[in-house]
Amino acid sequence: MKGHYNIAIDGPSGAGKSTIAKMLAEKLGIMYLDTGALYRAIGLKAYRDGWPEDDKTVAELLRGVSVTVDCDPATGRQRVYLDGEDVSEQIRQDFVSGYGSRFSALPSVRAALLGLQRSIAAGHSSVLDGRDIGTHVLPDAKYKIFLTASVDIRARRRYNELVQKGQNVVFEKVRADIEERDRRDSTRETAPLRKAEDAVEINSDELSPEEVAEKIIRIVNG
Ligand code: C5P
Repeated sequence: MKGHYNIAIDGPSGAGKSTIAKMLAEKLGIMYLDTGALYRAIGLKAYRDGWPEDDKTVAELLRGVSVTVDCDPATGRQRVYLDGEDVSEQIRQDFVSGYGSRFSALPSVRAALLGLQRSIAAGHSSVLDGRDIGTHVLPDAKYKIFLTASVDIRARRRYNELVQKGQNVVFEKVRADIEERDRRDSTRETAPLRKAEDAVEINSDELSPEEVAEKIIRIVNG
């Protein structure tokens, strides 16, 4: 049996990180932490309370906010709580993506969520997906994957996902939002999206989620 280990999966929006991370958690019997959900919870709070995008003000406001997460290793299901309220479904609304992305660029927000991510990873063998897991949150993660796909494919996947959830969306808008998030995630000063030097890059354009998961399992099993 393998000892404690973590898998970091980073990459742009819509590359398939969460689908693949869930599969890995199930197949490897480890925990899954979707770190984007934490940023979305803060984004939801910022939306509800009309926070300004100002780091100093947000640092103060964050003192009164609690974001917690409940990961069930048996099912891979994750619930996210904002001040004790289960917001797991609400954070999936399309507009929350933009708030999560904008507020995630603030150093105070990143700092507030760092300890939570590290303590979960330290307590359990787990797979974490996000933007800066391999570079910043878990620089010593045993396995690091950088998952990419072309903008068109990512936009198509995200569009289908939102339509399936019954949301009323326009493809061009979904694509433009993804491009905007890519730009913001990779140009921000604090912990921008980039491939860790020791990460293995996988492009998922031509691969099914199962094929990507298989590739990663082969890496983990050496
Ligand atoms: O992955 P997801 O789309 O749920 O993430 C929402 C937003 O949170 C992203 O657009 C990104 O800006 C931000 N994020 C981040 N660092 C992470 C995870 C997500 O900045 N580790």
